[in-house]
This record gives sequence, C-alpha cells and structure tokens, in this order.
Amino acid sequence: MDDTILVVNCGSSSLKLALFDQNHKPLASALAERLGDQSPHARIGDGGAPVALPPGANHEQALEALIRAFQDRGLMSSQPSAVGHRVVHGGETFRHSALIDDSVRDAISECSGLAPLHNPVNLTGIDATRALFPWVPQIAVFDTAFHQTLPRKAFHYAVPESWYRDWGVRRYGFHGTSHKFMSQEAPRLLGRTPAATSIISAHLGNGCSITAIRDGVSVDTSMGLTPLEGLVMGTRSGDVDPGLFEYLATKGLTAKRVHKALNGESGLLGISGQTNDMRSLCELADHGHEPSSLAIDIFCFRLAKYVGAMMTSLKQLDALVFTGGIGENSARIRQQTLENLEILGFVVNPEANKHHGRLSDGHIEDSTSRFPILVIPTNEELVIAREAARFANRSGSA
Ligand code: AMP
Repeated sequence: MDDTILVVNCGSSSLKLALFDQNHKPLASALAERLGDQSPHARIGDGGAPVALPPGANHEQALEALIRAFQDRGLMSSQPSAVGHRVVHGGETFRHSALIDDSVRDAISECSGLAPLHNPVNLTGIDATRALFPWVPQIAVFDTAFHQTLPRKAFHYAVPESWYRDWGVRRYGFHGTSHKFMSQEAPRLLGRTPAATSIISAHLGNGCSITAIRDGVSVDTSMGLTPLEGLVMGTRSGDVDPGLFEYLATKGLTAKRVHKALNGESGLLGISGQTNDMRSLCELADHGHEPSSLAIDIFCFRLAKYVGAMMTSLKQLDALVFTGGIGENSARIRQQTLENLEILGFVVNPEANKHHGRLSDGHIEDSTSRFPILVIPTNEELVIAREAARFANRSGSA
C-alpha cells in the first residue's frame, strides 16, 4: 500500500481525481469527461497528456484507466492508503465525514431524495472505487456537513412544521468543504486561532454561496434545501418569489419546467442571454453589451445584500473572504461588490485588490476599512484528502 491519498469527485458524466502524498502535498490530478458518451475523453493534469478510454466508458472504466495512468507515471505503486469521496448531501444524518461501510452507503443512498442529481452519481464513484480497492479505507466527505451547526432559527423555514418533521424540508447549505477551508485559512492569514475567529466566506464559482462562520462554526448560509437558493449563480437564479410557480402555471409552465429553468437557464446566463461564464460576461460588458452589464450589476448587488444579512449572525467580523473561480480571479467583481458595501464600512484598496488572486492570497482592504477583506484560493480536494488521512491514521492504515 502507498502512502498516497486519492480524492474522488464524481459528476453525472465526469470524474475528477486528485492524488496527495502523506504530507498532503498534491502529486497529480486527472479528469474524465463525457462518460457514457461515444467519445469520452480523459487526461492527466491541467491540459496534460490524454488517457485512452473505450467508447461509452463508464465511471469504473475511467477510474481504472486513470489509476493505471498514475501508476505508469510512477505516481502510485499499488493502492492508496485512503480514498476521500466528495458527497453532496448528507442530510441530517452526517454531521461529519464518515468511514464508508454498507450502512453508510445505504444512508447516503437514503439522502438521494434530497439531491437526486448528485448523490446517486457520488455513489457510482464510491462503488467503483470500493470494487477497485476493497481493502482501502474510503471516507465520505459531505458538502452539507459543515452546516449542520446552523442554529434552528437559521435552518428552519417559515413553513408548516410538519414539512420539516415528515419530509426534512429545511436549509442544509452546500459548499461546506470550501467554507470549512476558509474557516481554517482565514485565521492563519489573520494570525488568529480558528475557534476564536468569525468570518463571512463568499464562495463565488459557477455555483455561489455565502456563509457566516462564528468562532469557527457555520451559523448561517445562503443555500437551502437545494443548491438553488441564495446568490445569483452561473445558470441558477438564487432567491425568487416562490409565488412564481403558481403564476407561471397560469402561463402553461409546469413546476418541473420552471425548476429546470431556474436551475439551468437563469442566473448570469438568463439575464445576459449569452453566457454563464463571468469572464466572458465581463468582456461582453466592456464591449457595450447592456444585458451583460445588468447581469454583473445584479450579481454584485445581491452579493452585497447577502454580506449585510450574514453580519446579523455574528458578534464580531474578523474578515470578509472571497474565494471560488470568480471570488479569486475577478478584481472587478470584488471591487463592485465592495463599493455597494461602503455604508457598512468595507473599503477596498484597488492596488491590493488587483494584486491578490488565485496565485497569491492576502488582504485587499484599505487602511480605512472597518473590516479586513481577504482573497483566499479554495482547495476542496485538500480538505477531502485531510479528512481521508485522518480516518486512515485512526484505522492504522497510513
Ligand atoms: P469555478 O466554478 O470555481 O471553477 O468558477 C468558475 C467561474 O469563475 C466562471 O464564471 C469563470 O468565468 C470565473 N472566472 C475564472 N477566472 C475569471 C476571471 N479572471 N475573471 C472573471 N471571472 C473568472
């Protein structure tokens, strides 16, 4: 057995792998896409060497091919010491990561009703990896687990109590591994201890969510029962009036159709009519495309509103943190959002804002700012690898 830790992130037609050494240093990554399709493709590293897959290759075949490619390159010799799996929904069952056995597998399957697009696919990855490495400890790391500390007033919707009791209708929150990473990294930059640090963490990628973290634990978050609620996202609407379901029914749209549109045809894509990609949107706006400018304005305005809302859950604010593809890379979106927040005392330093990003974490606030403002690149794979290593060490395998 190697001292490597394998991280598996399974999407409906994709498979992402990351390999870490025993000190949690990244060794390699790999990506397989269009699985189940006639022309699937896979590669090692970012834009790296292609790995051959047969037409219609499934997750198990892709996993085997990529593991073999790791081995051929001398990155792994036999099998990893532990495997960490990203699992989207752990419901109320999982407050922490869990060592996967048959009962944990069943419990993940039971949560599928809450994440029908994600949990069954995550299980596909788990099953394939367990078949390949039956004696290696496999750990499920849940997007929802970090938010299981939300107080009742924050997770309970103002709906009939029986909906929660009988059907589990409540706020669960997502992007937990990223927000957890911020809860550890921000104190490091601030020279504080995580347990005594309160931050607001804004994860802005294709999916976006914002979390209030008080003394190291999640106390409020913008995503809810599903990852649709809250901020404006690439193709997701975020908050809308639930009354629109009934209104649009009078226009002939079924609930299923509206749900599909709110998830896949809304957000930046819906407003701009062009793209869900923030970088392209900024270019379009620079060329005078009004709907793209509007999409950016709405994105930043809604984000600023949510920062204000998240402050009500905190007794102190030690930092506002930007992360995710947009949060790390777009000085423009950070600047515009922070300009909306000047009334609360956030003041950005334009030079520092331009300087920090994916390659360099750090402070971007002006000396007159009431609160520190940080940019920190997220690393969800590292959080999953650390969790997996913790279990492997406990079971004496690493
Ligand atoms: P993620 O889901 O975290 O990979 O983030 C994807 C989003 O980050 C997309 O909307 C990208 O356009 C956006 N993004 C990446 N780089 C930049 C950039 N330099 N400026 C603006 N947006 C960016």
